[in-house]
Amino acid sequence: MTVYSHSRLSCFEQCPQKFKLQYIDKVETEEEQTVEAFLGIRVHESLEKLYRDLAHQKVNTLDELLAFFTDEWNTNWTDDIIIVRQEYQAENYLNMGRKYLTDYYQRYHPFKQGKTVALEELIRITLDAEGNYKLQGYIDRLTETQDGYYEIHDYKTNSRLPLADYIRSDRQLALYMIGVKNQYPDVKDVRLIWHFLKFDKEIDSTRTEQDLSQLKVDTIQLIERIENEERFEAHPGFLCEWCEYQSCCPQWSHLHMIKEKPANEYLKDSGVVLVNRYAEVKSAQKLANLQWDAELEKLEDALLSFAEKEHVEVVFGSKNKVRVSESEKYSFPSKNSKERGQLEKVLQKYGRLQEVSQLDTAALGKVLQEKQWEPEVLEALHKYIEVERKKRFYLSKIKE
Ligand code: SF4
Repeated sequence: MTVYSHSRLSCFEQCPQKFKLQYIDKVETEEEQTVEAFLGIRVHESLEKLYRDLAHQKVNTLDELLAFFTDEWNTNWTDDIIIVRQEYQAENYLNMGRKYLTDYYQRYHPFKQGKTVALEELIRITLDAEGNYKLQGYIDRLTETQDGYYEIHDYKTNSRLPLADYIRSDRQLALYMIGVKNQYPDVKDVRLIWHFLKFDKEIDSTRTEQDLSQLKVDTIQLIERIENEERFEAHPGFLCEWCEYQSCCPQWSHLHMIKEKPANEYLKDSGVVLVNRYAEVKSAQKLANLQWDAELEKLEDALLSFAEKEHVEVVFGSKNKVRVSESEKYSFPSKNSKERGQLEKVLQKYGRLQEVSQLDTAALGKVLQEKQWEPEVLEALHKYIEVERKKRFYLSKIKE
């Protein structure tokens, strides 16, 4: 089975379609880097150098550290790096990095808080006794404060301080904690430490054995869901703006296709024609004329054919767009029917009835949609359940 990483899991949770494009189809995109990502990399490598030199009995002065950072910045900077917030220049970000490092240096100098055990270390995490579910990741810095007491340090250059809930439930460092416990047999305790460099703040947390066991169960369930996923639905949202797969994503590819056409050809695009007419008819429909209903039906059929032919989920017009979505509706045998009783028995046989609380059909529908249970159980349920697939059309205005 694939060896997962925290970012791979997060990608699926954010948008299954993006996960498919990135990790399954392995679509190649032009490499674009934002200034925020560039700043993060340069700060990380400067702190790595600081601790690597310390391990070689060399304490950098603050000036030396800042000179290293500035040199790396200038050597690696290219004009392709994207600055989304146009009111700022590259220099502003360079100065931010210098400030982060200065605050960090002054707070921790002479850096005797613990013995550095590893820097940018690859950590392997096994979630089950059989070794079927594995993850890996890189720890920014691992230190030992006394024999067997470890700290996992993570540097953050985020522009926002996280809420307490984030720290309590953060998955990444908790997974690394499982890896450290496996990899270093003398572990007595592990602290998780986040350095929020912009705020010159250190926040720490830990996890109990019970937390880690629950995390293993939840992560295995998520991996199972990914492995059994077939639909890879797109979850469009504000992060689409930063998504490098927009031009091949079914939510946006039609827009990218028509944007490249000259104005006169763009208006002839059959998708644009259909959406423009659909918007016209929809607004005229207020007159409740049956004639419009018939035309709407035809337009919806045509939009559906267009969406299927072009493999898109959103069709764009001049001012409007239509999202064509498919939903699944499950119908279960009615209460008190013989089939309902049989369905409950099957669930009982597999010890799953409790989970859908005396056959809560909404909960069971969710389980089926997300394929949360083993294929054998899902298969056994199928003869009791009808699946109705419905196409829906959502007309909305295109934002500027
Ligand atoms: S553009 Fe948005 S919806 Fe499409 S893959 Fe990227 S994140 Fe998902």
